[in-house]
Amino acid sequence: MARIKRILVTGGAGFLGSHLCERLVDLGHDVICLDNFFTSQKSNVEHLLDRPNFELIRHDITLPIYLEVDEIYNLACPAAPGHYQYNPIKTMKTSVLGAIHVLGMAKRCRARVLQASTSEVYGDPEVHPQPEWYRGAVNAIGPRACYDEGKRAAETLFMDYHRMNGVDIRIARIFNTYGPRMHPFDGRVISNFIRQALVGEPLTIFGDGCQTRSFCYRDDLVEGLIRLMENESGVIGPVNLGNPEEFTIRELADLVINLTGTSSPIAFKPLPADDPTQRCPDITLAREKLRWSPTTSLREGLQKTIEWFRSIDLSQYRPPTPNY
Ligand code: NAD
Ligand code: UDP
Repeated sequence: MARIKRILVTGGAGFLGSHLCERLVDLGHDVICLDNFFTSQKSNVEHLLDRPNFELIRHDITLPIYLEVDEIYNLACPAAPGHYQYNPIKTMKTSVLGAIHVLGMAKRCRARVLQASTSEVYGDPEVHPQPEWYRGAVNAIGPRACYDEGKRAAETLFMDYHRMNGVDIRIARIFNTYGPRMHPFDGRVISNFIRQALVGEPLTIFGDGCQTRSFCYRDDLVEGLIRLMENESGVIGPVNLGNPEEFTIRELADLVINLTGTSSPIAFKPLPADDPTQRCPDITLAREKLRWSPTTSLREGLQKTIEWFRSIDLSQYRPPTPNY
């Protein structure tokens, strides 16, 4: 087995963070999960609490914290539009101050640190699919800017700590990812459609449903994050991680209706401001340098996610914000 490391996962109780913690604990590492539970709940990591190599800390990453670690995965940040737009100033602080705090810790401990960046750094892209060299088209003053510009500023900080202080960094640009343990009230399209289908409500399509997204199953994504973190070939990123199969939102709605067997109709709602019209990763770099590409089809991933949504009690989940 590889060397056992002490690994901090900020946002470790969230959808992706809890799976990452699970994988790292299973690999035998000493895992510290840090979270303020803004968009998650303790039940996501409850099954890890009695593992001797897992620790949980309630902390807000906008405040400094001193820990001794070998590696840091920085995932703390609300990710769903309804969550990050709820308190946009706090979202920006979480990205920027959070990055400064983990980078400071990495510098002090000589730890390697990975930033969970996002396809949102490409904004509403004019280059399609999006390669890492594309600089993006973000509206700096729109409702999504708190998240997009916060993540862009975090990438800047990562690169500057790397160039100025030699901090060992990795930057992953994550495209839409879904799977079991998504917050059922996060307002993201897959959780909305599945929840709506299972309770017999109309599936809400924003706009005409012709906008596209590419959906990556969470296990594929977590594998990509670990490969990037462990890569020793000099690749620090940014590296796109996502599934290059592209679907319209209308196609997604039809697939969810088909797989759940629901009789829910479709209801069309207004398209939110600055909603990107198309999004699809160019994953050539990840394929070549990390030997990584997703292996789970949308149909297969949706089936697993639907199964999980059927198994949960929705009354046990508190909507983090009213905007879902
Ligand atoms: P999530 O909301 O489930 O997880 C984020 C976690 O961070 C939550 O547990 C939340 O409570 C915690 N958090 C938020 N603010 C915090 C703060 N100030 N201090 C400490 N903890 C805080 O979302 P997710 O989908 O698991 O996303 C994880 C990371 O991946 C985020 O940084 C997100 O931007 C990035 N990402 C996710 C996707 C995706 O499609 N899931 C796409 C691109 C990027
Ligand atoms: N969307 C939708 N119905 C919903 C939720 C979202 O049609 O109930 C659309 C949304 O407008 C966007 C796409 O689905 O075009 C993906 O939205 P999501 O919030 O999941 O993520 P985004 O990629 O926009 O951050």
